Amino acid sequence: MDRRTFLRNSVLGAAAVTLVPLGLRGQIAKRAMKPGRLNLSFTPHELHLRHAFNLAKSSRTVTPDVLVRIEFDGIIGYGEASMPPYLGESEKSVCNFLSQLDLTQFNDPFRIGEIHRYMDIVSNGNYAAKCAVDIALHDIVGKITGQPWHRMWGLSAADAPCTSFTIGIDTPEVVRQKVQEASPYRVLKVKMGLDRDKETVELIRSMTDVPICADVNQGWTDRKMALDMCHWLADRGCLFVEQPFDKTDVKNTMWLREHSPLPIIADEAVQLVDDVRRIADVYDGINIKLMKCGGMHQAHEMAVVAKALGLKVMLGCMTETSCAVTAAAQLAPMADWADLDGNLLITNDPFDGLKIVDGKITLPSDRPGIGVVEI
Ligand code: MG
Repeated sequence: MDRRTFLRNSVLGAAAVTLVPLGLRGQIAKRAMKPGRLNLSFTPHELHLRHAFNLAKSSRTVTPDVLVRIEFDGIIGYGEASMPPYLGESEKSVCNFLSQLDLTQFNDPFRIGEIHRYMDIVSNGNYAAKCAVDIALHDIVGKITGQPWHRMWGLSAADAPCTSFTIGIDTPEVVRQKVQEASPYRVLKVKMGLDRDKETVELIRSMTDVPICADVNQGWTDRKMALDMCHWLADRGCLFVEQPFDKTDVKNTMWLREHSPLPIIADEAVQLVDDVRRIADVYDGINIKLMKCGGMHQAHEMAVVAKALGLKVMLGCMTETSCAVTAAAQLAPMADWADLDGNLLITNDPFDGLKIVDGKITLPSDRPGIGVVEI
């Protein structure tokens, strides 16, 4: 048996001894608390969406979500895993992964990199689940040091950009209602990929002249049509186009990038820091999301590498509570654009965190860690 297999079997064995089985929805699964150790607990929390969320290839009214707590010497760190279907994770897979972890073997929450390596031994994937643990660890470390994470990273909260507000694919009546709801925001993100995209943009333009950004979610297939749309959108105050083609379609993406008047941003095509290097010649920028990359640790590394490669940095999110959105917002001062509206799209947010003031991301200045409190 090699060392990796031995280590994996050892941690799974330890977990089997101490695990309390997950109960009914809403109950917290946890182990016996150990003082001076990292004590993990978690509970499913299905997110209810204000409007059906329609994309080019899917539609939904709820998002599965799991809330995580890590306790260390009386300090509580909050974390969250949100699982939109395209990431391939589910409430069950996240709970199964978290059930396999035995964080009580760690007595130092500052060892975030080492704890990531341990989680990678337990499973290669499960990035949303790892993200939940990562956010909670960052929250504890920030609370121990008494500092919010943007300060730990040497960033100024005043440099955080405005956030866009997402207008999904919908009927003209619902689009009109959403644009009215979005009046406090200075940028609108428009989901595209259907035949009526131009009508949707024209409708938005009849109501407001704030800049828009277009997220195609891999919905385009024809390069000529895509280029025509980029020119058409550029004439209507669009800032960039996100993920126009399938994430594997390098050829069409490179061609469009070469000819488009608008920057082309990678979302589905980029997950981890290695992907940033891989796509640097294909796209103009990347959309970093905590749930894709496994948390704040990797997200910060991706932003640093992207900047070094001359790529634009966009900071995005899934439909999430204020926990994960506020954690992501700690990195917002490094972003050229932000799309941190996930908490605004749900009706059952159990946290208070970042605020949007006159369209701008405003971090809670007096809160250490990720900057949230339970409501
Ligand atoms: Mg996107």
